[in-house]
Amino acid sequence: MITQERADFINEQEIEGILSAQKRPEPARVKELLAKAREMRGLSINEVACLSLVDQPELLAEICSTAKQIKEEIYGSRLVLFAPLYISNRCSNECTYCAFRATNTSLTRRTLTQEEIAEETRILIRQGHKRILAVSGEALPQQGFQYILDSIATIYATKVGPGEIRRVNVNLAPQTVERFRQLKDAGIGTFQLFQETYHRPTYAAVHLKGSKRDYDWRTTSFDRAMEAGIDDVGIGVLFGLYDWRFEILAMMQHIHHLEQKFGVGPHTISFPRMEPAVGSDIASRPPHPVSDADFLKMIAIMRLAVPYTGMIMSTREGATVRRETLEVGISQISAGSRTDPGGYKDGEGNPNGSQFQLGDHRSVDEVVRDVVSLGFVPSFCTACYRTGRTGQDFMDLAKPGEIKYHCHPNALSTFQEYLCDYAGPVTKSAGENLISIELQHMDGQQTACALPMLNKVRGGERDVFI
Ligand code: SAM
Ligand code: SF4
Repeated sequence: MITQERADFINEQEIEGILSAQKRPEPARVKELLAKAREMRGLSINEVACLSLVDQPELLAEICSTAKQIKEEIYGSRLVLFAPLYISNRCSNECTYCAFRATNTSLTRRTLTQEEIAEETRILIRQGHKRILAVSGEALPQQGFQYILDSIATIYATKVGPGEIRRVNVNLAPQTVERFRQLKDAGIGTFQLFQETYHRPTYAAVHLKGSKRDYDWRTTSFDRAMEAGIDDVGIGVLFGLYDWRFEILAMMQHIHHLEQKFGVGPHTISFPRMEPAVGSDIASRPPHPVSDADFLKMIAIMRLAVPYTGMIMSTREGATVRRETLEVGISQISAGSRTDPGGYKDGEGNPNGSQFQLGDHRSVDEVVRDVVSLGFVPSFCTACYRTGRTGQDFMDLAKPGEIKYHCHPNALSTFQEYLCDYAGPVTKSAGENLISIELQHMDGQQTACALPMLNKVRGGERDVFI
């Protein structure tokens, strides 16, 4: 029997109180908060609530430009790339918004064998990926949890020439401390889990069956993960289920809880918006749809509120919205994704096996070319986690200045690897051009660090990082 802990750190009454007390702020108050945000020490829950009510176009533009400025200060021009790898779409839960829900008979079910996982991994490696997010439904095959551990081992063990996956993050069901320890021993990077909604009545209404009905077990997952030594955890909400303002304040409470208890907040925040899914009515008509304008505002506000946290945008969104989110705070994106197990091998992906409809169908090479044209350096870097710079160590490193001498050279070196081994000719030439521009803008210390690394990669060495 699992001992239950109530997730009291999510205080709905407090959130409702803050939201009902707030009024549209005066311009002077907004400017004051933006000045505070520029100090890069974050914002309080009340301040986040206040900014969420801004609707004057010129102030919204200022929120966005401040978020952009902060992101540039911390991340420079780097943009981390990854791909999801769906290993199974079998599930014992009944989440009304998800095509994988147990009673959905419209879905073709599939659990990949280890050889099939290796085959999917090889395809992702040939596309140039170095980071994978392993994703699974919640009905495990006969081998039980060992299946997950074996799958992670398979991904790490798969090689194609010099190519390999260097960081496996996971998006899986909440686990016990013991199983989190096993995940840590298996070498996972981030344990990612979306709360879906922090609003208890909505949570109860959309999770009809199975272990996921237990709100507290889900909300306290990261406490158990951190107790097991997993420093990097990734939070998120499925936007569309409930009022986005409520959800971001609840996220702030969750972040503060982790900071207070473990000294470090989440490594990443994801911003999934609900997309149509086979066999789900609610997914086509979200009860609380988030407009594009609110979506961008929310991302910008979160960049101001938690400046050092990685922020992730998936291919649920189309290319245009994705481009806009890069300007207001997103620091990691997926590319070339499939959400059906075996979807990379199957080519186009199987809509009857997929979790939801994708918004961005471009290949990795097309996405890379696009972000390069916007001036971003695609980064395939995994150095922090492999050198033990996780949790608080990562947050310390993430202080402006420091990051310049680690992350930026590492980004350039992994991008150079991508250009040498995987890029199409047009992307290669645009990418080489971007690298020379980046080198021109570096200070002496940075160039002294980056140039030898780039030359090593150009000379055939791989996995060059500091
Ligand atoms: N089964 C695990 C769970 O539920 O946490 C992990 C994998 S689940 C496949 C990953 C995430 O997909 C869910 O947490 C949910 O937020 C998201 N998702 C489910 N249905 C979706 C939909 N229709 N549109 C967008 N995202 C969806
Ligand atoms: Fe299963 Fe996760 Fe989909 Fe819910 S969201 S039905 S738990 S795969």
